[in-house]
Amino acid sequence: MLGVADRKPEARIPMTMTSDSTSEELDAVFPTGTMEPEYVLNQSLDPDPASVFKDIDQEDRAYWDRARHFVQDEVLPVIAGYWERAEYPLHLVKRLGELDLLRDGINVDGFPAMSKTAAGLVTMELSRGDGSIGTVVAVQGGLALRSVAECGSPEQHARWLPVLSRAEEFGAFALTEPAHGSDSVGLETTATAVEGGYVLNGEKKWIGNGSIGGLTVVWARGDDGQVHGYLVPQDSPGYSPTTIEGKLSLRAIWQAHIRLENVFVPAENMLPGARSFKDTARVLLATRLGVAWSAVGHATACYETAVQYAAQRRQFGRPLAASQIVQERLARMQSELATIQLMVMQMTKLDEAGVLTPAQAALAKFTCTRTARSIASNARDLLGGNGILLANRVARHFADIEGIHTYEGTETVQALIIGRSITGISAFA
Ligand SMILES: Cc1cc2nc3c(=O)[nH]c(=O)nc-3n(C[C@H](O)[C@H](O)[C@H](O)COP(=O)(O)OP(=O)(O)OC[C@H]3O[C@@H](n4cnc5c(N)ncnc54)[C@H](O)[C@@H]3O)c2cc1C
Repeated sequence: MLGVADRKPEARIPMTMTSDSTSEELDAVFPTGTMEPEYVLNQSLDPDPASVFKDIDQEDRAYWDRARHFVQDEVLPVIAGYWERAEYPLHLVKRLGELDLLRDGINVDGFPAMSKTAAGLVTMELSRGDGSIGTVVAVQGGLALRSVAECGSPEQHARWLPVLSRAEEFGAFALTEPAHGSDSVGLETTATAVEGGYVLNGEKKWIGNGSIGGLTVVWARGDDGQVHGYLVPQDSPGYSPTTIEGKLSLRAIWQAHIRLENVFVPAENMLPGARSFKDTARVLLATRLGVAWSAVGHATACYETAVQYAAQRRQFGRPLAASQIVQERLARMQSELATIQLMVMQMTKLDEAGVLTPAQAALAKFTCTRTARSIASNARDLLGGNGILLANRVARHFADIEGIHTYEGTETVQALIIGRSITGISAFA
């Protein structure tokens, strides 16, 4: 069955005409200018008002270009339908692996070097295409692959890094629990040592890729009271995932609610470098800046949709773009977009130099997601009624920003991290 986003706009053809009528016949009934045009809103405008990306080097730009082609040719033509049906386009995840866009800047033996700037640009570009596709990289590359790369043994590296990078296997990262979201440090899933390994018991919620058959990195409390990481194949007996339904955001990727009931994990599947929650936090710190890049991608999509729509939509006998207030709104969006582009580039420079602090990563996520939310709201409104139709691009981003505004630490939690760095006082509890 066709989704709304796949349907042709036949509703505009009057009762006496058919979809087979010639354009001359249509023109006779509705002279040019009296019918709503076919809006073209998916063009890439490459907005860079502060010339932030002017000096991106060739290697990084090659990753960006590859992501751009993937988005324009393979994501945008189909994604609204997947979003509407809440289906997960796994073939696009496979393509991300084939195109080497999944690694999130993690260097893996046998793969070309990928800088943090390249990773940021790829995440931005994919999110400009679609938030669920951007989230795939955050989950599979940013969290699952990074956990193995940073905390795994040489054997675990050899077994998992290449296949996760190429999307020959799917990867998930299971930290959040039904009763522990912002305070995930208080997680209650247990890993009890038994002969030859560990037995895991507990529940995990909101786990991207947790129900599609693959590997889940499960964070659980060991007998020593510390949080450790365990590599759990999703076909392990006692691993029961349920895909979460009814989401209003990021509908083209699946998250799972997972029940772990006496799941046996062999000793060699424990991550030796994950000795306490500090190691989990290290993985999360790296991905927080990725979410900021993702927000810039959403903001870019909303801004460029608004610019294109303002030029094509006519009211009061002229394009919206000819109105002073509309120009002020576009200027405001551009100003906000330039601000967050500058923010991610500067923070990524610090990250590449190895000096990015948790408070700076939090500042990036805080600023970029809330600013992207403001741009999306402005752009959504500028499209009027068309702004709530999936076919017109902006509504999907408007909804998807809600997901990234929350995951990997809510706006308030980022504010608490920033506030702690300003005052020296932790106000979390
Ligand atoms: C789409 C999506 C994908 C996700 N993917 C994953 C995944 O792959 N793996 C994973 O492990 N997790 C994942 N998560 C979980 C995500 O990280 C949590 O949802 C997030 O950390 C917030 O936790 P919570 O939803 O339980 O909200 P809560 O922690 O219950 O927060 C509710 C509200 O209270 C506020 N709040 C909380 N504590 C304080 C405080 N001390 N002071 C003031 N305000 C406070 C919050 O800011 C928020 O506004 C995902 C979530 C979503 C929505």
